[in-house]
Amino acid sequence: MKEHNRSIEKYFSSIGENASEIGRSKADIKKDFLHKLFYHLGRVPALTTDNDLYTALALTVRDRALRQFVRSTEQFAEKDARGVAYFSAEFLPGPHLGNNLLNLEIMEETRQALAELDLDLDHILEQEVEPGLGNGGLGRLASCYMNSMATLGIPAIGYGIRYEFGIFKQEIREGWQSEATDKWLHYGNPWEVMRPEISYEVKFGGRTEAGTSKEGKYFVEWHPESVIKGTAYDTPILGYQSNGIIMRLWKAEAVESFDFSIYNMGDYYRAVEKKLRSENITKVLYPNDENLSGKELRLKQQYFFVSCSLQDMIHLHLLQGRRLNEFHEKFSVQLNDTHPSIAVAELMRLLLDEHDMEWDDAWHITSHTFAYTNHTLLPEALEKWSISLLGRILPRHLELIYEINSRFLEELREKGLNGEQIARMSLIDDHGEQAVRMAHLATVGSYKVNGVSALHSRLLKTQVLNDFAKLWPEKFTNVTNGVAHRRFLALSNPRLASLITEKIGDQWLTDLTSFRELEKYAGDPAFQQQWRKVKLENKKELCKLLAERAGVEVDPAMLFDVQVKRIHEYKRQHLKVLHIIDLYLRIKDGKGEDIAASAFIFAGKAAPGYFMAKLIIRLITAVADLINNDEEVNRKLKVVFLPNFNVKQAQRVYPAADLSEQISMAGKEASGTGNMKFALNGALTIGTLDGANVEIMEEVGEENFFLFGQTTEEVQETKRKGYRPYEFYEENSNIRRVLDFLVSGALGEGDPELFRPLFNNLVQQDQYQLLKDFRSYCEKKEEVFKLWANESEWDRRSILNVARMGKFSSDRSIRDYCENIWNVEPVRLRD
Ligand SMILES: *Cc1c(COP(=O)(O)O)cnc(C)c1O
Repeated sequence: MKEHNRSIEKYFSSIGENASEIGRSKADIKKDFLHKLFYHLGRVPALTTDNDLYTALALTVRDRALRQFVRSTEQFAEKDARGVAYFSAEFLPGPHLGNNLLNLEIMEETRQALAELDLDLDHILEQEVEPGLGNGGLGRLASCYMNSMATLGIPAIGYGIRYEFGIFKQEIREGWQSEATDKWLHYGNPWEVMRPEISYEVKFGGRTEAGTSKEGKYFVEWHPESVIKGTAYDTPILGYQSNGIIMRLWKAEAVESFDFSIYNMGDYYRAVEKKLRSENITKVLYPNDENLSGKELRLKQQYFFVSCSLQDMIHLHLLQGRRLNEFHEKFSVQLNDTHPSIAVAELMRLLLDEHDMEWDDAWHITSHTFAYTNHTLLPEALEKWSISLLGRILPRHLELIYEINSRFLEELREKGLNGEQIARMSLIDDHGEQAVRMAHLATVGSYKVNGVSALHSRLLKTQVLNDFAKLWPEKFTNVTNGVAHRRFLALSNPRLASLITEKIGDQWLTDLTSFRELEKYAGDPAFQQQWRKVKLENKKELCKLLAERAGVEVDPAMLFDVQVKRIHEYKRQHLKVLHIIDLYLRIKDGKGEDIAASAFIFAGKAAPGYFMAKLIIRLITAVADLINNDEEVNRKLKVVFLPNFNVKQAQRVYPAADLSEQISMAGKEASGTGNMKFALNGALTIGTLDGANVEIMEEVGEENFFLFGQTTEEVQETKRKGYRPYEFYEENSNIRRVLDFLVSGALGEGDPELFRPLFNNLVQQDQYQLLKDFRSYCEKKEEVFKLWANESEWDRRSILNVARMGKFSSDRSIRDYCENIWNVEPVRLRD
């Protein structure tokens, strides 16, 4: 076909069709579905399985998603628009099918098309195994941002790793967490398109050699020990009503030609073994919170995906006839935490060694390309790679990091900083085994650095990266996290979504701030009653899941008091457990009249190597066993641990919650996004002034938020003064009674030693100051119980919470990134 004809519109008009016509009718969907089922999958009707039905429907929808993507990409290219590459080692997209139906606005047509074939859409939706390519909040954030970038028309691509095994599947065995591999690809993955022709070579190990060219130019050659190929797998991610962008994930494979010498020796099997070893790189996602330093494979994963992605971007850039020295004018690369921060050294290497650029030019481009999002202040989670490991795996990068560092430190000396400051800021940590501080590399190599909530960004500037913020104040900014409200409300809570739409119209789908209009109905008894009914229906549905997965029968009339998130000591699930034990003991004493009938629901995974977190799960299941089986108590209290928390379950839990527990020690939770999802679905929050809780409370009003506990400053003051948790144990009889109960033998298999490590930790260190905040928490819970007794007041506050959630859409976060960091404009697409 002639060049001028190569546009999707022209192709379609040549066959008398309109490129934007997407086949949305019931008849179109039905026909395409049957075609996929019989002729794509080659199924005989009598042998069709549920998975076939799901796959056929997914393929039907994928056609439409890819069509959106092709059209969007064509128009982005036409406009020569500046774009964003979102680098993230984790994505947690959740099930695609329902979300895509929603974004394409073909949910009802599809439901009817299937009904006419005697098929049930909900049953088919249930079949999808979600891609668990992330640990929790950070990966989920990346996926929320993909949806918002697509919705807003941002030319964007998400780059990551196609792990063959995602986050482990959690099972509960005899009360303990046990881990099983997540075989999410077992039945195939209809959403992705493999791109065998989009592949890049990535080098590892070996040595470098410096030389001078004939023209007198200094150069370095890297002679790697091994080379691995990365192949792209693309998944379309849709925005609402509009665009499609792609998430490009890399899979590692052997390079065909690399070990030719082995072939020649006739050692075919050794070559095959080598291939298998290469593929290891993208085999498995590492669960976080574990001590990852020293994990060679983890470093290889990070470098592997970053190198493929940057090579791909350079390739695309040059393909469009642009010059490499305008790379940073065409792209902004967002580093989602330090996991991809080796990109700073890799882009330098590509520009210097592969594209013959001079240092100053290469550094200018690099340091104007990257922007870095910090996600944690926990010292143990700040990434470091030992010099010995980095030098062995990436010898050239270590040289480049040294060079970046020496130039940076020279700059500091010229500015008159003292030796102590310089040592603190160095990219190299000299304490103990020498290591590269990845957060420093990311900060030095980026033009912007942001935290993920107002509080977190402030702490980043005044504490963790204080020296850097003083040096480059304009580099630091905040973007408060947000959530994809289309997935976490429109899709997962259809009852509430339609109630709201009936009242205020549906513009909230693209503008969550329009929820403000709900405020005026907050006190309306008829609306409150409808509101309450929706919540009750959602709770009934969750009850089915709890019965099925946890074997616990819960009365939907109870107060659903929910804490779902990764299990970590700083998140203080055990604070909630201590309170439950306190309630239990009160009821046993016959003093429980004021306690609201409550179902305490927990879910979340613990990192497999994190003993305390696993013990907390064991504690929850032990308390659940005790309480649920005690006739004196179980009409008043129920405790449930729902296994294997993931996006699919999250979508069923948030809509059914009455109370959201956001009780981390202040200063530890960077933002949290679960807090937003709960409030968006009408839960009231009991929480500390941590992360985005601060901003949520600002928005919904203090009077509509159950605030307790110390502030960050008070926490730090407590620590500075020398915190002695033992004093609380001695002086507060409630605390003593609850803690003694842990080691009384009443829990677990009657072994008083089972929870001794928790007891000891709380009494001796209690680094997250549970005991200090315990009284304040219990008092707030009394208020919760009191308010629960006043239905209409509870509902009023619940409505106000939802009405004031406008700020927490990820659409707002993405607009903030565009304005404050990326300098990227949305492209308004033609229909
Ligand atoms: C939102 C979400 C999280 C993050 O929860 P936090 O309460 O912010 O820690 C983790 N996992 C899943 C599956 C989520 O949907």
